[in-house]
Amino acid sequence: AVFDQLSTGLEEAWTKLRREDVLTRENMKEPMRDIRRALLEADVSLPVVRRFVNSVSEKAIGTGVIRGVKPDQQLVKLVSLMGGDAVSIEFAKVPPTVILMAGLQGVGKTTACGKLALFLKKKDKSCIMLATDVYRPAAIEQLVTLGKQMEVPVFEAGNQLSPVEIARKGLSEAKKKGVDVVIVDTAGRLQVDKGMMNELKQMKQVLNPTEIFLVVDAMTGQEAAALVAAFNLEVGLTGAILTKLDGDSRGGAALSIKEVSGKPIKFIGEGESMTALEPFYPDRMASRILGMGDILSFVEKAQEVMMQEEAEEMQKKIMEAKFDFNDFLKQTRMMARMGSMGGMLKFIPGMNKVSPLQIREAEKSLKVMESMINSMTPEERADPELLTKSPSRRRRIALGSGRTQEQVSQLVSQLFQMRARMKNLATLMQGGKVPGLDN
Ligand code: GDP
Repeated sequence: AVFDQLSTGLEEAWTKLRREDVLTRENMKEPMRDIRRALLEADVSLPVVRRFVNSVSEKAIGTGVIRGVKPDQQLVKLVSLMGGDAVSIEFAKVPPTVILMAGLQGVGKTTACGKLALFLKKKDKSCIMLATDVYRPAAIEQLVTLGKQMEVPVFEAGNQLSPVEIARKGLSEAKKKGVDVVIVDTAGRLQVDKGMMNELKQMKQVLNPTEIFLVVDAMTGQEAAALVAAFNLEVGLTGAILTKLDGDSRGGAALSIKEVSGKPIKFIGEGESMTALEPFYPDRMASRILGMGDILSFVEKAQEVMMQEEAEEMQKKIMEAKFDFNDFLKQTRMMARMGSMGGMLKFIPGMNKVSPLQIREAEKSLKVMESMINSMTPEERADPELLTKSPSRRRRIALGSGRTQEQVSQLVSQLFQMRARMKNLATLMQGGKVPGLDN
């Protein structure tokens, strides 16, 4: 997954540094060399790495060490400076706020439009999306489908009007409807060309957008930062959205973009699902790069999808070892709401090295489990004992879900294993001892 390479390279330097109390020229030398190498390997551009290393040395040594601050914390802070401050979306004083989305073909622009609409919807902002990619009917269709999926209106006119005319009409439609935000999907080209730039400039004139985002693909590495710089010169941007950070890219782009173009990354995309969009936090990215796992984002995401009450109820059940199939289902649904399992795992220290294949396997087996639970009666879900006693019930569930009876039996015994493990955990948490465990 992304940043793995970076993390591995830095882990050593990191461990060394953590043992120190303060940063000195001496103890910074080796870690800085490792960091420099790791950043270069991650495809962060050379000038950026140079500037970074210089500024760290200056800050750490020139102005003296910040006493009382652990070197690891200090380093995270310094690395995060490379990404600038976190900046959120800007809204127009008089709605609607117009967000113009630009980008080359295939970078994930249309997907990002949908993700952004969902993100805003969760923040109680009403949206409309404008489909102006008149050169590719498939792109319009794709946006319409996403709109339906998320119940966000889409304004389109097929290829009967020019992009600029669609923009004009769409905007007046948005004003009529009184929506808060207009998200404009524009045509992408395979390469930067005059036509695309001119079209964007015209759209900009007509729409007077508050935000102009360039969507860039993290897989393109340093090219992404260069593109942001180029578009910014031509059209003027307010920021970038970096997509496909879940892929096998080395991710150096996340650290280069601000330095190279002067424009911040506002959002990052980490998957194909509509929920896989997050505001970009340079400090979190920095700590992730330094191999600590991004606990903060993880907790925040978990809180977002899990209601407080639900969480407490779940905890109570775990403590009392009463976890049943309803809870099981709730948990898997929660995970689905949190985005892909891969996205979740990378927040957990040490877990960012789980392979995409392992993750896909796990996700698949969760789906299988879910199908079987869906074939259970409410009583069976709440009282799994019913299933241990009755082969005919297990047979019925197998038939209903298209699985084998063995799979059903397996699921049932898995639940009881989980209960047992949870009981042990609960005993531990209450300060008791668990037989058979070194505690
Ligand atoms: P566009 O041509 O720029 O509009 O690109 P699309 O939105 O059609 O996306 C191109 C492909 O990239 C689609 O298959 C998307 O599902 C995929 N995609 C978009 N964003 C992400 C992302 O953050 N992660 C991954 N893995 N795939 C993405």
